[in-house]
Amino acid sequence: MPAAQLMKHDAPTGSPRSARCPRCQRPTSLAPDNPWRPFCGERCRLLDCGDWLSGTNALPAEEVPPAAEGELLDGGVVH
Ligand SMILES: [Zn+2]
Repeated sequence: MPAAQLMKHDAPTGSPRSARCPRCQRPTSLAPDNPWRPFCGERCRLLDCGDWLSGTNALPAEEVPPAAEGELLDGGVVH
């Protein structure tokens, strides 16, 4: 294998520290120095809290990936 390929460590996706404000979709920071994360600022955070209190913001259903049931069943069988 060419050494050049081993040196290639591209990060196609953005940094995990960068995200969009769930309230206004503006770019925001998830860094610990952002006291309003994941929101862009105090205003968006307060607005979102207001939605929660008034019940207009519902929890989305958790999407659970299909479990590998076959593996679990096979693991319990002793041949
Ligand atoms: Zn915002």
